[in-house]
Amino acid sequence: MTKITNLSSEMGKQLPAELVDFMRRAGEVAAGQGQSLYLVGGVVRDLLLGRSNFDLDLVVEGDAINLAQQLVDITHGKITTHPRFNTAKLQWNKWSIDLTTARSETYAQPGALPSVKPGSLANDLFRRDFTINTMAIELVPSSYGRLIDPYGGRDDLERKFLRVLHERSFIDDATRIWRGLRYEQRLDFQLEPDTLQLLKRDIPMLDTISGDRIRYELECILREEHPEKVLRRAEELKVLPKLHPALKGDGWLTEKFGQARFSNLPLPGLYMALLAYRLTTEENEDLISRLRLPKSLAQTLRDTNSLKSRLESLADPELAPSRIYRLLYGYSQSAITANYLASSSPVAQQHIQTFLNKLRYVKPSLTGNDLQKMGIAPGPRMKEILNLLHEARLDGKVTSKKGEEEMVEGLRK
Ligand code: ATP
Ligand code: MG
Repeated sequence: MTKITNLSSEMGKQLPAELVDFMRRAGEVAAGQGQSLYLVGGVVRDLLLGRSNFDLDLVVEGDAINLAQQLVDITHGKITTHPRFNTAKLQWNKWSIDLTTARSETYAQPGALPSVKPGSLANDLFRRDFTINTMAIELVPSSYGRLIDPYGGRDDLERKFLRVLHERSFIDDATRIWRGLRYEQRLDFQLEPDTLQLLKRDIPMLDTISGDRIRYELECILREEHPEKVLRRAEELKVLPKLHPALKGDGWLTEKFGQARFSNLPLPGLYMALLAYRLTTEENEDLISRLRLPKSLAQTLRDTNSLKSRLESLADPELAPSRIYRLLYGYSQSAITANYLASSSPVAQQHIQTFLNKLRYVKPSLTGNDLQKMGIAPGPRMKEILNLLHEARLDGKVTSKKGEEEMVEGLRK
């Protein structure tokens, strides 16, 4: 069976008309300037797989910024340019399109960012990670829709194989190891046997990758529908210990990630808290610095770790609400929820729920202002009275403003 090598009808069916119109116009404009223009990478892969993906990456043989400047009038949107890399981004309505100038890359040393110079489409495809990501579609009118597939990406899609383009690929850039596992689990593909051997051989190269780049890959994984599958596979292949030797991608993690998806918190943060949950305080700090986690995420991990040591107290069925409040107050929601999910005590879980649903919203009716009107001067004593009011409210000892006023009168005596 001969394969259709013109994908214009697939593009028409699977992509929104607005994007298809844009690409046709862009192809015309590029051709008018004697430049070539291609749709490349993930979106081509997903077109052939019938998966929806509207993140268009366009490659220009020529000058991406110049072309983008001509196209911005068509979209009536916004343009962002990066002259250093000669790339541009066009954004309008809900669409965002990346235009890059075709380039060739050379790696001065493993793991370093490559040095980049302008090149042909062929150069540009050769620097990519897996054959299934190295296909392109022509957009200039004379050959609109024609598939370019120099590395057999389409055959690999059919065989469900992830295959690198050459045997130094993971050495040049070991983040491709993580990318490979991510695609493997997302698409339910396999690493082609030679690629798998190379991957295993080059696992030590992960040590050459900066914290920022590793964190980025992990963030991508945590945005997948089932990140636990990637982490499980990473454990199996001994890739996970490169993130931190004490991390586990096991059944526990799978179960907790599954439960996390029922929460309405931002998932990447909660996943991260669960992934790091079983680390000691010291290991947790190692992970935070290895990944150069941003402040807020680092705080979530520290909160999670510190709250863990309070779970035992929270498992006491006799706890007064004010005590529950004090045990949980000040911790980030993701940290509290991670501990809720990780706890094996139904009592502790119940207490956490009471805190999240009710206690954290309880406040006394009287404010410092009110107390001042009652003749109490601002200062430590006022603070103490406010605390006592708060506690009494939490424990249901007072239930009205009037009750609070009586309590204050009583305290003054
Ligand atoms: P996703 O669906 O996860 O976004 P994608 O294929 O669009 O997948 P991106 O990370 O958006 O992936 O990157 C776009 C393209 O750039 C990829 O298809 C791939 O060809 C190339 N690419 C990205 N990262 C690398 C890398 N580390 N090494 C080589 N090529 C890469
Ligand atoms: Mg993408």
